Amino acid sequence: MTTVAAYAAPAAKAPLERTTIERREVREHDVLIDIKFAGICHSDIHQAREGWGEAIFPMVPGHEIAGIVSEVGPGVTRFKVGDRVGVGCMVDSCRECENCKAGREQYCTSGNTGTYNAVGRDGEVTYGGYSEKVVVDENFVLGIPEGIALDEAAPLLCAGITTYSPLKRWNAGPGKKVAVVGLGGLGHMAVKLAHALGAEVTVLSQSLRKKDDGLKLGADHYYATSDPATFEELSGTFDLIVSTVSAPLDLGAYLGLLKTEGTLANVGAPEEPVSLNLFALLGGGKSLSGSMIGGIAETQEMLDFCAEHGIGAEIELIAASEINEAYERVLSSDVRYRFVIDTATI
Ligand SMILES: [Zn+2]
Ligand SMILES: [Zn+2]
Repeated sequence: MTTVAAYAAPAAKAPLERTTIERREVREHDVLIDIKFAGICHSDIHQAREGWGEAIFPMVPGHEIAGIVSEVGPGVTRFKVGDRVGVGCMVDSCRECENCKAGREQYCTSGNTGTYNAVGRDGEVTYGGYSEKVVVDENFVLGIPEGIALDEAAPLLCAGITTYSPLKRWNAGPGKKVAVVGLGGLGHMAVKLAHALGAEVTVLSQSLRKKDDGLKLGADHYYATSDPATFEELSGTFDLIVSTVSAPLDLGAYLGLLKTEGTLANVGAPEEPVSLNLFALLGGGKSLSGSMIGGIAETQEMLDFCAEHGIGAEIELIAASEINEAYERVLSSDVRYRFVIDTATI
């Protein structure tokens, strides 16, 4: 075991504080990663505050990890010491079910093993990226190509793949009109990726406060959803709407913005159930769908796509001592567009 410094929530809703945790010895197929940067995802806050139900404490959040390989187990073939690597939302899965075999490890029928707030298949609690080092099986480690700075790469491991996967699944590309609901951590990545994929991109945000940013990130159009005229003007416009917000939405109103047989794909995770009059789906044969991160191969594809197109996240680099303040700012949508912790400050 190796003792490493980390930032942890000692209990639900308690502020995060510096502590130490134990990392396992490097096993045959393990990679030891010196973590350089860790993104702060909204779901870190949901989990640290038990918004999604009972959680495991102390909790070291962080599933947007970027770092450098510092040791590999004897059976490791995919990585070597010095490689630039990332770890996202999961660190293991059963590897045998139909979803794992199809490269959809995130939907493993016996559950993927979360990077933190989970019990691993070895029975040990997992701890995430707000720490100095992590040990992960090589099959759940991603290569970060040269051409993406490590700090800007970290958020791609969750926010990037979470938005890339539905854009690909529903064919965002040339000739397609794609709307992105919400311009936060997920939304700003959705805009960059949809634009790079060749789609015509519209941001639907509560206000026009971030309009200049949205257009700079690659949006072609920008509308305020607080203005009822937006829903009249854009009625029947989009092939695909990707909703990134974690607050409850008036789904019926957004479904009205889809073309016939269009899809509203939800990647936000509201804490409360939402209701919907299903007539909003019947007329126009529309689909309401969901998507959760992406498989390992698809995550690598996304990282390679980002390198090819010069895409990284827009980040605000912070010291570990600023994590609690950053959480409050995420909750008030006061971040452009992802906080990333410089783990050298832990
Ligand atoms: Zn996340
Ligand atoms: Zn499985």
